[in-house]
Amino acid sequence: MGLVSAEGMLRKAYENGYAVGQFNINNLEWTKAVLNTAQELNSPVILGVSEGAAKYMTGYVTVTEMVKAMIKGLNITVPVALHLDHGSYEGAYKAIEAGFSSIMFDGSHYPIEENIAKTKELVEVTKKLGLSLEAEVGSIGGEEDGVVGAGEVADPLECKLIADLGVTILAAGIGNIHGKYPENWKGLNFDVLTQIKNITSGVPLVLHGGTGIPEEMIKKAIALGVAKINVNTECQLVFAAATRKYIEAGKDLQGKGFDPRKLLNPGYEAIKASVKEKMQLFGSVNQA
Ligand SMILES: [Zn+2]
Repeated sequence: MGLVSAEGMLRKAYENGYAVGQFNINNLEWTKAVLNTAQELNSPVILGVSEGAAKYMTGYVTVTEMVKAMIKGLNITVPVALHLDHGSYEGAYKAIEAGFSSIMFDGSHYPIEENIAKTKELVEVTKKLGLSLEAEVGSIGGEEDGVVGAGEVADPLECKLIADLGVTILAAGIGNIHGKYPENWKGLNFDVLTQIKNITSGVPLVLHGGTGIPEEMIKKAIALGVAKINVNTECQLVFAAATRKYIEAGKDLQGKGFDPRKLLNPGYEAIKASVKEKMQLFGSVNQA
């Protein structure tokens, strides 16, 4: 199976009370780890690519071609969506042109009228091409590619305005944060999540900043309509820790331990273990 829109997998998740993980990728090892884990667990999966990560991997076309070739090379049969994460207006068009199957247009930093106008346009473009579109209302706290959000809580009425445009999925700030959560974090705002769910008439919701949210809160969020959960920082942390451990143990100095295929393997395995844990928690195992 090639790349698919995220619509079918997220609709199914929303209706059956589980969530599909979006795991952000940074290179070949990352992509291979996420795809192999999804296949082993028979889970649908969304590969997230930020504009910064796309640039790092030398462009949207490189990413699309790598992922498509890897799906073939690894015999991946579970549904895989290749999703632009926090796309700008220009970035959305570039990713569409390169063959991404799912787009997030993050217009949350525009005045709501402009966010609506641009989102509406992209709804039409993506619908015609059979791609899924994620929109955002109210910025997500923390930092993503240099964009710092204030940890806002979205206005449910604004969420309804955007949801009614026909977006596939909606990201709304409910106290969640990108990156590591601070000690004094107040937790997710379930009152606002409930209001958003009630007012947006069946649009699956997205929870960004899935690293470090307690399990009970994740489960409650899923029960309240969250069907997609983004995980990025966690894989970075476990990859770095496993690589550090390997080098601190002096393993790169033993035999051919310096070989990148050996050096990067502990990090690869660590990402796999993390992705597995998240898929089990989100309930997407055997839902391919
Ligand atoms: Zn995000």
